[in-house]
Amino acid sequence: MICLFGGTFDPVHLGHLHAARAVCEALPVPAVRMVLSARPGHRDEPGASTAHRWRMLELACAGDARLQPDDLEVRRAERLGRSSYTVETLEAVRAADPEAVIVWVVGRDAYAGLMTWHRWRDLFALANLLVLERPGVSPPLPPELDRETRVRRLGGVPESPAGGVLLLPAAMQDVSATRIRRALRGADGLQPGLAADLLPAAVYTYIKEHHLYGVVSDA
Ligand code: ATP
Repeated sequence: MICLFGGTFDPVHLGHLHAARAVCEALPVPAVRMVLSARPGHRDEPGASTAHRWRMLELACAGDARLQPDDLEVRRAERLGRSSYTVETLEAVRAADPEAVIVWVVGRDAYAGLMTWHRWRDLFALANLLVLERPGVSPPLPPELDRETRVRRLGGVPESPAGGVLLLPAAMQDVSATRIRRALRGADGLQPGLAADLLPAAVYTYIKEHHLYGVVSDA
């Protein structure tokens, strides 16, 4: 079984790490590959470069063999000279291992937007999807995706190479990168110290050292 957890990780936070560890408990996998996305995404706030996001991901995963930083997608994007879509990343993983049970992990909020993903239906032909519940972020599924989910829903660990949807009931942490970026720059009355509580210590130190996200001083 190959388990991949994609994200912009801008920055990677304790919610991501907690989620990846919960996936390791729920599935018979020794590790989750944390796949950094090259997509900038649509956001108004300052984000960090791919190089910084990668370094923070490496720092966050260091010391826990269950968490494997993976630059497959950003390397592909560099080669292509454009963003690499998830479906293409999964095609590459599938080509390397045609028989493997592949599991792509997404948060419930990201899953609700799945129909906007490039060639979204093809994702089911390439992998199983594991959907993580996120407190406070459970937008309803569009009717078509809701139907698809009901048909594909698995009662337990995926056994087929692709095509199933597993909803993981494990409790997730109420942490988002958006809130962390706001706290770092002191927006909305938030303090950088709040971000410190939601980030791996090495990542918080890295952000301060490199002055990322418009971080303001704690003092
Ligand atoms: P942003 O606030 O910038 O959108 P984010 O915190 O959602 O960031 P991403 O890197 O966009 O982080 O998320 C990567 C994946 O991790 C997505 O599938 C997302 O739904 C999921 N995820 C993010 N935070 C959590 C969390 N606290 N618990 C479980 N899953 C999460």
